[in-house]
Amino acid sequence: MTKLADSFQRTINYLRISVTDRCNLRCIYCMPPEGIVQMTHADILTYEEIFILVKAAAELGINSIRLTGGEPLVRMGLSDLVRMIAGIKTIKDIALTTNGILLEKYAAELKDAGLTRVNISLDTLKPARFHQITRCGELEDTLKGIAAAEKAGLTPVKINMVVMAGTNDDELVDFAKKTIDDGWNVRFIEHMPVTGEGSANDLIPAKEIKKRLDVLGKMEPFKLEKGNGPAKYYKFPGAKGTVGFITPVTEHFCYQCNRLRLTADGKLRLCLLREDEIDLREPLRRGASTEELKEIIAKATAAKPKGHQLAEGIINKGRPFSQVGG
Ligand code: SAM
Ligand code: SF4
Repeated sequence: MTKLADSFQRTINYLRISVTDRCNLRCIYCMPPEGIVQMTHADILTYEEIFILVKAAAELGINSIRLTGGEPLVRMGLSDLVRMIAGIKTIKDIALTTNGILLEKYAAELKDAGLTRVNISLDTLKPARFHQITRCGELEDTLKGIAAAEKAGLTPVKINMVVMAGTNDDELVDFAKKTIDDGWNVRFIEHMPVTGEGSANDLIPAKEIKKRLDVLGKMEPFKLEKGNGPAKYYKFPGAKGTVGFITPVTEHFCYQCNRLRLTADGKLRLCLLREDEIDLREPLRRGASTEELKEIIAKATAAKPKGHQLAEGIINKGRPFSQVGG
């Protein structure tokens, strides 16, 4: 098997693909209140174009794919793309990150097409607060999406909660209890003050979150079978589910970064929090061969930056996460 690596000897095997910049929600930490200027239809890669790039990347050593957005399920026929990618023999894992709103409708067909598992973003268990954080959504829809994903076997279903001081941090224990009572796998994500309304004051460091969960007992480290990410997992005594922590701000994990990103308009993004991008759409649309595309991807990967500088307060206010995929 070929191995794709960067100049810091990190093996790169994971590609996150943003299939659209559109979204059916407007989460306060992700989008500016006025929304974003949307890409045109012609800007966005077709499924066939994404497939060609994934095939080239797979030949270089990418074996794990995550589909994201915007909201990936607002793009018509996502199951078709999943089926195309699932047909590439060396791709072992195809996961989806979604807000869950449309998941009840699509979970079974996505599973049938070859999707392995889903991460669902959910920041509150309170309906009015859900509406406030997402600026328009209904909690009930996401809860139905979670149930549908579990029923379809898109497991382990992971619930991503972006923790924001004064907005939803009074629900940390409620979310952690769900890992005990309902077997949820909950991941607490440190808020990044990048594109939405939030500021650095919203941050609650993972260490503090962990301390606040002490009331539920002593959690023990736990190794999850499926996962590509930087989360650290734990379990409470007797819990079926897990608690995870993702610490992009207080304990960055750049040294073990294994990923590349493909934006909806065909740019290869080397780091979520840096602006370095390489255009793959232009060579793709002028008919570049697979070998040529592989060369461009490998060369770009070699130049992957060492890491971001959030901890030092250096923030890239460039593209919103809804365009880069989070
Ligand atoms: N719409 C899908 C969703 O919400 O899951 C996929 C795209 S969203 C940009 C991907 C992830 O980025 C979500 O889990 C979201 O919570 C996270 N995210 C967005 N803005 C963030 C921020 N400022 N800090 C931390 N995580 C953020
Ligand atoms: Fe949409 Fe996801 Fe961003 Fe929320 S976090 S606005 S659901 S892209």
